[in-house]
Amino acid sequence: MRHIFITGGVVSSLGKGLTAAALGALLECRGLRVTLQKLDPYLNVDPGTMSPFQHGEVYVLDDGAETDLDLGHYERFTHAKLGRGNSVSAGQIYETVLLRERRGDFLGQTVQVIPHVTDEIRARLHVDDGVADVAIVELGGTVGDMEGMPFLEALRQFALDVGRSNVLFGHVTLLPYLRMADEVKTKPAQQSVATLRTLGIQPDILFCRTERHLSDEVRKKLSLFCNVPAPGVVQELDVTSIYAVPAMLHDEGVDRFILDHFGLPATPCDLSPWAKVREMERRRRHPLTIALVGKYVDLQDAYKSVYEALEHGALACSCRLDVVRVDSEIVDEGNVMGMLKDCSGVLVPGGFGNRGILGKMCAIRHARENGIPYLGICLGMQLAVVEFARNRAGLAGAHSTEFDPATPHPVVEPMEEQKRVSNMGGSMRLGSYPCHVARHSLLSRVYGGQERVDERHRHRYEFNGHYRTALEDCGMAISGVHPGGLVEAVEVVAHPWFVGVQFHPEFRSKPHGPHPLFREFIAASLRHCQ
Ligand code: GLN
Repeated sequence: MRHIFITGGVVSSLGKGLTAAALGALLECRGLRVTLQKLDPYLNVDPGTMSPFQHGEVYVLDDGAETDLDLGHYERFTHAKLGRGNSVSAGQIYETVLLRERRGDFLGQTVQVIPHVTDEIRARLHVDDGVADVAIVELGGTVGDMEGMPFLEALRQFALDVGRSNVLFGHVTLLPYLRMADEVKTKPAQQSVATLRTLGIQPDILFCRTERHLSDEVRKKLSLFCNVPAPGVVQELDVTSIYAVPAMLHDEGVDRFILDHFGLPATPCDLSPWAKVREMERRRRHPLTIALVGKYVDLQDAYKSVYEALEHGALACSCRLDVVRVDSEIVDEGNVMGMLKDCSGVLVPGGFGNRGILGKMCAIRHARENGIPYLGICLGMQLAVVEFARNRAGLAGAHSTEFDPATPHPVVEPMEEQKRVSNMGGSMRLGSYPCHVARHSLLSRVYGGQERVDERHRHRYEFNGHYRTALEDCGMAISGVHPGGLVEAVEVVAHPWFVGVQFHPEFRSKPHGPHPLFREFIAASLRHCQ
């Protein structure tokens, strides 16, 4: 197995994750099988305990690992089967090393960053899933960060260990354009490569993030000063569509360069899956506005997978989607009508905590009473249940005990096993669970008649089964149930399209395979506005 290590220089937010994912996609176009891994140098064991303000979305894998959102890019761009081992944090590394120290495994040695921490990092780089030809490993943060140092040292040692020709170092760097000088500047890139070289790492490829085309002169300069062969200087322009990146990297000769570097046979490159997505983008005709009502609407990354999945649904329906991000903290009964007036669909995503709860419920009520398509995800489903219980089933004061522990009608409450949980990290109902889909339900039509589906979860609370009959009698249908009895999906019968799901369909949506819930939500919203 070959390894490609991706580091970043100069500034964060350069799109390293996207570059790694697009590289994976491109290698798949060459018939290679890839896996991807993210190394995060922070001390949290996983991002599950971090606020979206700190970290953006927490992405959940089938096996229940709570991971960095870059794993979402990896899954959306490639066919790699990812699990817990594909997301490594310094917290996990230190936790393991310290547990071993307490067990006495180090037999009297002084436990140190080198070699003990670096050994543990190196051990985790062997992500061989039995099928992959190439592992693409992305190191979070920026070269020069203190906490990233043990990781860079481990990468250097790893290359020495497995042989330099089995490893390729790619460095994503910024080439700022200075308007006053009308020039693309190379100095910051030179400096970040110089830092890497002092750590014993010579990049083979420079991914140059730039808003302007690189002249031959700039390319030559970078090649010479960064000691990177000319074909390894890759221009990675800002793009309007992320789906253009695989082809852009191909045009820069990246796949060819990598195959040569590893001495792999040059099979033809079939970019047609990505050309098809681009073609679908070009063919979008119908304008559509939907509202996403949430607490973190100002953050680009908090609902990353939801935005992506909506886009996949929109592509499948040939529609030019405008997502209005509505701050749930400012919505109330008085302004909801005005705030949602141009929206043909309403989505409330997952969430935690009290803030914005009432605004979300106002939006849900507005959608329910006006026949506007509604998709509620996790918290969005729980609040749809609360809203229905209060305003339709006459259960005054009904609530989730997450927000009102003393509610007279706890229509949403913690799962049994959650009542005994004391550690917050990694202890929710996480990962993929089966769900039986009720026949003749809207959900069944959405899933094309499938009787069992598997979807990913991340929650502590659930629909309280004691209220099932009371809500069903008033027109709420339970359309998805876990074999153990937990309610997974609800819908409002006398409504054109109103679905709440306890799981997170956004984590299974891909540009080539939109999740049916998103595709059908978009289709219903289109019907609503026509
Ligand atoms: N806070 C709710 C729970 O824990 C919903 C979680 C979510 O939306 N992911 O059940």
